[in-house]
This record gives sequence, structure tokens and C-alpha cells, in this order.
Amino acid sequence: MKITAVDTILITIPFDSGAPSAVIAGRPRTSVDILFVRLATDAGVTGWGEAFGHSVTPGTKATIDALIAPLLIGRDAREHTVLIRELQQKLHNFGRNGPVVFGLSGVDIALWDIAGKAAGQPLYRLFGGAPRTTLPAYASLLRYGEPALVARNAARAVERGYRHVKLHEIDVPQVAAARQAIGPEVALMVDVNCPWTLRQALDMAERFRPFDLTWLEEPVWPPEDHESLAAVRRTGTRIAAGENAGGLHDFRHQFAAGALDIAQPSVTKIGGITEQRKIIALAEAFGVTAIPHSAYFGPGMLASVHVVAAMAQETLVERLFMDLAACPFGGLTTAVDGRMPVPQGPGLGCDPDPAVIEKYRVG
Ligand SMILES: [Mg+2]
Repeated sequence: MKITAVDTILITIPFDSGAPSAVIAGRPRTSVDILFVRLATDAGVTGWGEAFGHSVTPGTKATIDALIAPLLIGRDAREHTVLIRELQQKLHNFGRNGPVVFGLSGVDIALWDIAGKAAGQPLYRLFGGAPRTTLPAYASLLRYGEPALVARNAARAVERGYRHVKLHEIDVPQVAAARQAIGPEVALMVDVNCPWTLRQALDMAERFRPFDLTWLEEPVWPPEDHESLAAVRRTGTRIAAGENAGGLHDFRHQFAAGALDIAQPSVTKIGGITEQRKIIALAEAFGVTAIPHSAYFGPGMLASVHVVAAMAQETLVERLFMDLAACPFGGLTTAVDGRMPVPQGPGLGCDPDPAVIEKYRVG
């Protein structure tokens, strides 16, 4: 089953975040990018992947087109693990994190889509998961800044059936407003995206304590300072991190440092499904819970749902709290009553809608 073509397709879809302006990944945004990686084979099976993401998508696209695609043409899509290892080694000196690995992540997801289609099985069943139709999701709110907007959107998430709400706010009034709006029974998490020194993080963890957070995410700058994360965790605050990690060995160091309660490998960033599942297995060995990062809407979201659905215990799926003008996968990336559907078709379970791609394509 030889790979005959590698195409990258970039689309951007406008969204409504429930506020006049909102921030994704540190930048004000009004549309969300999806970078598709499509692998065609001489067997007629086509695989779809997604490579991270948001503002860096043009850089990732150029990296796949120039560096990665030429290495894939003519190779056998069934020699999946060998092929991925070879690409990692050939490209390692161009970056072990960032666009190279994001691109490889998209390729790996597409190779798994091909494998699932060839086997006639949805990926979560191929991975040994029990039959499931839905998974619990958490609403991952954008950063609004204004406490009243935070409260309103946290309440909207609960009205839509979510029992877990995550904020991307970095100060006390916003977190207090959310807790007040959702009441004591709904789980509340706060993701601050690496703003603080250790001293500041310890102080803020203390100030957040009255709001009974299920976890505090990435409180320390830089994200690779695992020892400082561990120091915050030792005060009793549950720590989540890992979306910015550089692979299996980066996670091994975090686990060994005692930095994490929740590990968040991101399938479109970390090296795809193959690397993500290794990390989930390692997390289990260290007694750490894996709840993947999945702040996206393309094949990466479907891949995340399959990986989570294959876990022995029911686990949360992250869903950005926004309404897109269109969805490439129909309703498959939309939570209903706070639960994400599990695709039942072979591979990822669904190919993207060509009409949505055509309408929103920018590259
Ligand atoms: Mg995060």
C-alpha cells in the first residue's frame, strides 16, 4: 500500500465565542484554523490527519510540504511504526518540538486513519476499547478577561449540559465570578498558560484555593521547568500540564520530577496517536491521569476522541467552548448535553466534508 500523494489543506472557520473578543493561544482570534494532512495510497485508501495549529499553521504547512512530504512518497503506509521512527530520526536536527513534530503528528494520524479503514474498524475498537457512543466533555472557555463575560459563558456552558468547565483566566476576580456562576457542584479548572515564576505561582495557587479547582494548568514559566511545577504541586494544588511537551522523554522527566497529577499530551503536537499512546501508558505506570489536550476541530479532535474512548476508564475530552460557522465533520466535534459523540465509522470515523473545505480554504 504505497503512499502516492501528500497534500496539506488549510482552512479557517469563523466562530462565535460568546463575547465581543476572545483570545486563543495568546492571540485575539475570530476564526479557527484547521491544517489537514491528506495521504493518498495506490490501494485507493485515503487517510486524513491534522497538524497543529492556530497561528503557526502556515509554518507547519510549509514544513510538511518542503521537508516531510518528499520522504513519504512511495513508502508503504502499513510500515507505520518504522516509517514514523525513520522520519523522526531523519528530521531530528530541525527541531524536536514545533512545526516538524506537528507535521509528523498529522502524518501519524493519517496513517492510523488508513490502518483503521483497511481493517474496517473505528480506531478506538482497533485499540481494544469497549463499545461507547459518547464520552464526557469539559467546556474549555477562551480567555475573556472581563469577569462578567467569564461568568456568563461559564453559566452558558452549564446550561448546555457540561459538568466540567475550564477557564483560561489568570486572575482571582474572573475565577471567583465563574465559581459563583456555576455553583459548587460543577467541576472548575483554570488554565493560565505558563505566566508565572515559581514564587508567583505559589502565591496564586494559594489565592485560588477558595474556588476548589479540580486542577491548575501550566502555572509556571517556562513549561519545561518541571521542578517548579512539582514545587507548586507539593502544596496540594492538583497540577495539569503537557500540551507543550516535546515527546515521550519530556513526559518521563515530568513524571519522574513529580510534577503532574494530570498529563495532557496533544495528539496534533506530540507526534500523533503513536506517541500519545506511549505517553498514556507511561503515565499509568507513574500513577498519573491522562486527559489529552484537544483544543482543535479537525481530524485531531476525532483522533483524541478515539484515544480517550479506548481507555479502560471513562475519561474527559477537552472541547473548546465556541460555536463554529461550519464543521467539517458534521456533528462529530460538537458535544451534546456535555458529551462528545464517539465516531463509529472505520478509521477516524468520518472524512471531512468537501463543501466545507472548499468554502473555507485559505491555503
Ligand atoms: Mg492548556
